[in-house]
Amino acid sequence: MIIVVGSINLDLIARVKKIPLPGETVSGSSFASAPGGKGANQALAARRAGADVAMIGAVGEDANAEPALALLKSAGVDLGGVAAITEGDISTGVAMILVDETSGENQIAVIAGANACVDGDSLKGASIKADDIVVLQMEVPDAANLAAIKVAQDVGARSILNIAPYGEGAVELAKHADITIANETEFDDLSQALSLSGNDRREKAHAFCQAFGKGLIITLGADGALAIIDGKEYSAKSPKIEAVDTVGAGDTFCGALAVALSEGQPVEAALKFACAAGALACLQAGAQPAIPLRTDIDKMIA
Ligand code: ADP
Repeated sequence: MIIVVGSINLDLIARVKKIPLPGETVSGSSFASAPGGKGANQALAARRAGADVAMIGAVGEDANAEPALALLKSAGVDLGGVAAITEGDISTGVAMILVDETSGENQIAVIAGANACVDGDSLKGASIKADDIVVLQMEVPDAANLAAIKVAQDVGARSILNIAPYGEGAVELAKHADITIANETEFDDLSQALSLSGNDRREKAHAFCQAFGKGLIITLGADGALAIIDGKEYSAKSPKIEAVDTVGAGDTFCGALAVALSEGQPVEAALKFACAAGALACLQAGAQPAIPLRTDIDKMIA
């Protein structure tokens, strides 16, 4: 079982003629809403990659809660650990996204809302077993993530932490999680914060693993991924594709990797599986709609 502790958002996406300046009003051509949030994206990715998945998180008691959870629900993710926050007028997490129709550039405001209410007790009711994998990202409070890592450790379950979006708390969390996953810029931020020694990312990645005795995976966009697990180095190339939209590729990689490792796949095969899933997620617009099914991942790596 994959247990994802993390954020649940509704993305509100407006395509506009231009990104407005302060005080300016602009007209736009279209509006769409879509479920999002890194936690929810990774839970859906793990589910579609073939695992039983439980989501731990929180939503508000508002009209956005149901659409934010819609795809997780229809995919069969266990939502028993998703709290509905009733006190204090707290909203479901929202990302308000303006996309410039011409340049494709965007402007995003994220309101954490109920995601900020996920706390150290969030895993209390969950019965985690040693062969489960706990998957974490950084859109819920650091204290909740740290507590989840500790709960996983107590029962001998592995924890995988995606340090996205990067924040100061990543340093402490990465020292404790069994495997940390970062893209290149997130890893550069982590390296800098930890003053890791080395001439390049590869050497710095080894320095991280030696210093803390934990695993690390760096995703390299179209170039695939590099992993250092138990002192051994692995890499996988990403399949060549014509990327349409890379939003959600990292989340898909994380969910798929957790599934492959929980199935006992060797690290090399798990990396290849996750890279194929990440590449497939680039073939369609949006995050959750683009997350691939197991059959498509298997076809890509066959
Ligand atoms: P993030 O989306 O978090 O910035 P990356 O850009 O590193 O992370 O992408 C995560 C994974 O998605 C990569 O390891 C790779 O497998 C896949 N991926 C991303 N962009 C491409 C691309 N242009 N072509 C093929 N695969 C890609």
